[in-house]
Amino acid sequence: AAEDNYPWSKDVRRMLTQVFNLTDFRRHQLEAINTTLRGEDVFVLMPTGGGKSLCYQLPATMQQGRYGDKQCRIGVTVVVSPLLSLMQDQVDHLKQRGIPADLLGSHVGQEERRAVYNGLSGIMPSLQLVYVTPELIQRSGAFQNTLQRLFDNDRLARFVIDEAHCVSQWGHDFRPDYKLLGNLKSTYPGIPIIALTATANERVQQDLMANLNITGCKVFKQSFNRPNLKYEIITDCTRRAARLQDIKDFISTRYRNKCGIIYCVSKKLCEDVAAVLRDDFGFRTTHYHAGMTQEERTDAQQKWQCGEYQVIVATIAFGMGIDKPDVRFVIHYSIPSSIEGYYQETGRAGRDGLLATCRLYYSYADTKTHEALIDNGDGGFHQKKCQRDNLNSMMQYCANKVDCRRKQVLAYFGEAFDPALCKEPTCDNCINNQGKVAYDKDVTADSRSLIQLCHDVCTSRTSGCDAEKITLIQLVEAFRGINRKAFVDRGYTMLQSFGSGKHTTKTDATRMAHHLQAQGYLHAYTEPNYVGFNTTYVTLGQKSDRLLSGQDVIIMREVTGSVS
Ligand code: ADP
Repeated sequence: AAEDNYPWSKDVRRMLTQVFNLTDFRRHQLEAINTTLRGEDVFVLMPTGGGKSLCYQLPATMQQGRYGDKQCRIGVTVVVSPLLSLMQDQVDHLKQRGIPADLLGSHVGQEERRAVYNGLSGIMPSLQLVYVTPELIQRSGAFQNTLQRLFDNDRLARFVIDEAHCVSQWGHDFRPDYKLLGNLKSTYPGIPIIALTATANERVQQDLMANLNITGCKVFKQSFNRPNLKYEIITDCTRRAARLQDIKDFISTRYRNKCGIIYCVSKKLCEDVAAVLRDDFGFRTTHYHAGMTQEERTDAQQKWQCGEYQVIVATIAFGMGIDKPDVRFVIHYSIPSSIEGYYQETGRAGRDGLLATCRLYYSYADTKTHEALIDNGDGGFHQKKCQRDNLNSMMQYCANKVDCRRKQVLAYFGEAFDPALCKEPTCDNCINNQGKVAYDKDVTADSRSLIQLCHDVCTSRTSGCDAEKITLIQLVEAFRGINRKAFVDRGYTMLQSFGSGKHTTKTDATRMAHHLQAQGYLHAYTEPNYVGFNTTYVTLGQKSDRLLSGQDVIIMREVTGSVS
């Protein structure tokens, strides 16, 4: 194959077997390796566990620069990584393989630091890889001098930007110091960059490539499908007791003595849920969140990693750098804040390729917690809008009882998936809809009535200044003609559009309203209500005119009863 026809291909294969002890490349690994060896920028997108490290670790071990008239880029590989624990892990692995690698960070002591700098000096530096934090590249004069010297001596092979989504403010893990890495291209012209991430959102990709100044580079994307993961969303356990009981049954019937993670939205909830699982249910359980000391966290993670604890109840602070292959279940105690986050967190299950289950508990009320977090969090207008969009997409996903979960997740990442390819159904929707027929339902008429009602409410000022403010739940109730004193007081019941959706069920009307919100026909906004609590209201979205004037048609996926 073409990828094996480079002058250095034999050496690449030799490194693969002798140094890394592997027999063959996975998809896109060799392509990425050849691209960076040619000296070009490359962007690698692979799911967690896909094998990103090899894409830059193997090139780092190459030692011959000239192959006839062809040039292969060799020298020191500088790896930028966001987490010290990740860096330490990688360096330990490399050293075990006999690859000279080390790391620099603010925690590294004087002596060790000197040794690392020694390894980077001279005409033939002895280190092949050096892992650094983005802060170090930006702020350490000593390191910048070293880089400059490597550059001047043509010993700087490439920059590796690991977890590259941290460069983008649309990513779920934005780091300001990462964004500054954009200056690498101008400070060290001609030095190739290899950016890697498991975060697949198209907007994040475009943004991170632009920020790193590598727009237009070679891109290698791998499928994000995780065939061995089962997806299930539970919507009928809205109360805490029911949820906990369900978790107990789930673990004890399906994963007795198997390891798993439970994600919770707050530190307090983490501790509470962990306490119930441990004290009331008798599972070996620990918790993990950012409020614990570094030692406590390391201790919890290690004891879970080695199986001493069966379950770890954690906030999203627990994540990057977990390398436990046999996680059999990931439970989201409540809705995650984005599909990206959901994918990353569920992706920690089943890295050994064996079956694992991703279970999520959803109720509309839970989303209020997230909305409050967004409102009270830092971040400017655009960042908050982005966070709300992310949450909306996640709500859509949870409320959608029709489409294959896998198909929905992959569609979010721009990847097509045909559920018919599954040998057996692997998500709650496919299981529940087995033997049923999916079809497209035209809900234009009901949608128009709902938007008309929203329009009428927002323009009616029958009873004072607050009359025009309505939440999504209230809008759906007014649409269905539910009798509420507040509706009478505000004059809603006098509107011709009040109750125009009497024939709809609560579930259908709510799902339709969520759909209209996600499609831009309704717009959600948050502000303090009259007692000062933040409340999310809905108003007409930017596309509402198109619906009211009859231009747009609204289609939703539905399923019929069984066909026999
Ligand atoms: P990522 O960084 O994408 O999450 P890693 O680079 O940590 O993934 O690789 C995950 C696992 O896959 C590691 O155990 C690694 O040894 C293994 N791996 C990587 N490439 C190959 C390959 N070509 N063949 C077999 N195993 C591989």
